[in-house]
Amino acid sequence: MFESLSDKLKRTLKNLRGEGVLRPEHVDAALREIRLALLEADVNYKVAKDFIARVREKALGQEVWQELKPAEQVVKIVYDELVELLGGTSSRLVFTRQAPNVVMVVGLQGSGKTTSTGKIALWLAKNEERKPLLVSTDVYRPAAREQLKVIAKATGQAIFDLPESNDPVLLAREAVRHARDYGYDTLLIDTAGRLHIDDQLMEELVQIKTETRPVEILFVADAMTGQDAVRSAEEFHRRVGITGVILTKMDGDARGGAALSIKQVTGQPVKFVGVGEKYDALEPFYPDRIAQRILGMGDVLSLIEEVQAKVDRAEAEAQLKKIQQNEFTLDDFRQQLRQVKRLGSISKIMKLLPDQLLGSIGLPNLTEEQSAAIERELKRTEAIIDSMTPEERADHRILNASRRRRIARGSGTTVAEVNQLIKQYVEMRQMMRELSRAGFFGGGLRGRL
Ligand code: GDP
Repeated sequence: MFESLSDKLKRTLKNLRGEGVLRPEHVDAALREIRLALLEADVNYKVAKDFIARVREKALGQEVWQELKPAEQVVKIVYDELVELLGGTSSRLVFTRQAPNVVMVVGLQGSGKTTSTGKIALWLAKNEERKPLLVSTDVYRPAAREQLKVIAKATGQAIFDLPESNDPVLLAREAVRHARDYGYDTLLIDTAGRLHIDDQLMEELVQIKTETRPVEILFVADAMTGQDAVRSAEEFHRRVGITGVILTKMDGDARGGAALSIKQVTGQPVKFVGVGEKYDALEPFYPDRIAQRILGMGDVLSLIEEVQAKVDRAEAEAQLKKIQQNEFTLDDFRQQLRQVKRLGSISKIMKLLPDQLLGSIGLPNLTEEQSAAIERELKRTEAIIDSMTPEERADHRILNASRRRRIARGSGTTVAEVNQLIKQYVEMRQMMRELSRAGFFGGGLRGRL
């Protein structure tokens, strides 16, 4: 997301940094380019214009303007305004103590509404220790109710239905009652969608709202539809009143215009983004982190959170122990590869790191091709280890020539590649043992003194 905008902003600000003395005309030239970049990212025209006006006012309003001015200040102003544009502080779902809390999910057909309803339930259960109940009030398309059932099953979440009822308001009311009776603290209502906004749908949504008094009404919009998404959000807000937006399909949206315009246009923040078809592909929306990412400051916070969530601590500690005792087998090696893989693609991980950090630790900014090559290498390594027997994985010393030939055949690689991997593994083991002896993995030195 935001790739092209990010490239252009980074280039413009870099040029600005290159100026010895920063004059108003330099800033104006930079602002013209930033404005163009925003428009090319499909940011709403007026939003882009206001953005530039605010940056200009702040930048030129600084004291002793004709003096040597660090361009960094302009970068900081652009950053601050970008955070504002994206919604300021991050917006969480707001719950009250009264159960059940109702969350209505509304939007046009095909926007990803039903999928997102299921994703939110899963997210709340996993991250907020809530006990959600799902219900679909889309009585017009039987497939929609069926789809939510499939999602509920796949994500292990509870769902309520009255198959014989075709009354959306009744369904909502009964679901609230069911949630209250059975101790569900959150009711997620997946409402009907239409291809276009129509009066009947709006009326129905208002009725459900009146009946269930939701704490949140989330509008689901397909980010790839850009300004159309912004216009529908505006209309839904005017007629039903929304409390936040979920932007779906951000994984396919390189421009980011909707994300950059929705808060300014509707006054309501983006609360979540959908980043894939899988049910866990939902992320809270953090304006500051995204602004940092756009300006190439990286997004170390997100990366750290991801690592914490996905790397199993107990597993990591067990491996550490094995390293200390020199029992690190090929099985453990494979386990480590899998942990790395769980973090996602190499290019995704690299994108989250700040450009400066990559430079300072000597890592190149990998091209898509290079990171794809690394991933292929990781896959090949895993395939080779997969082709070994448990005995071989437990003790590499039994890997004689005929076993190596068999492994190469089984993994679709060559004997040279198998040899190479075993050599790497032996060297790694050696290095780990030395590091461990030197006390690198904690407790080592002290234990021996
Ligand atoms: P609804 O008609 O609004 O309920 O839309 P659905 O929930 O049925 O979603 C429509 C399509 O969009 C489905 O194929 C979903 O898998 C897909 N989809 C939903 N959210 C995302 C997302 O964040 N990323 C991607 N790539 N696809 C998504």
